[in-house]
Amino acid sequence: MKTASVSLTIGRFSCRDCGHKFDTPCMCADGEAASLWYGEFLFYARDGSTVYWNSLNDAIYAAYKKMKDVILAKRPDFPKYGVGVSLSILIDPPKDGSNYWASPYCPACRGHNVDYQARLEESVTLEIPCATFSHWTSLTESQQQAVIVEALEKAKQAQPTK
Ligand SMILES: [Zn+2]
Repeated sequence: MKTASVSLTIGRFSCRDCGHKFDTPCMCADGEAASLWYGEFLFYARDGSTVYWNSLNDAIYAAYKKMKDVILAKRPDFPKYGVGVSLSILIDPPKDGSNYWASPYCPACRGHNVDYQARLEESVTLEIPCATFSHWTSLTESQQQAVIVEALEKAKQAQPTK
């Protein structure tokens, strides 16, 4: 399995469902430091495992972005900013049957309604498995478009009504 050496900080999170507070490696930063991981993503599975994806200069990401822009140009009703589409739709799902999320699962109740609270002082460098895209790349272009449209429909429905 291909891995990458990734520098992360330790963030403190709090669970909205059970109140549990926990610390976990993350790409969380405030202000200027937020650009530290520009184009890089860390996704969490329910079992606590993570995958890493650097989308910069990535052909899969470039093709996805282009496709999404074409769809958004045709569908002004879809949200362009704010509620986005999770890039986890492109990534092979975790083996534990959960979904990858950009924020960690709560280790106590395994829910994913968690809030980032603070960046702790420590930082860590971890070897993290790189995300794989074998399912996504096995789809035809029109199947990929259908997946993106479906995700945008969901994002639209999740948007708060003004
Ligand atoms: Zn919890």
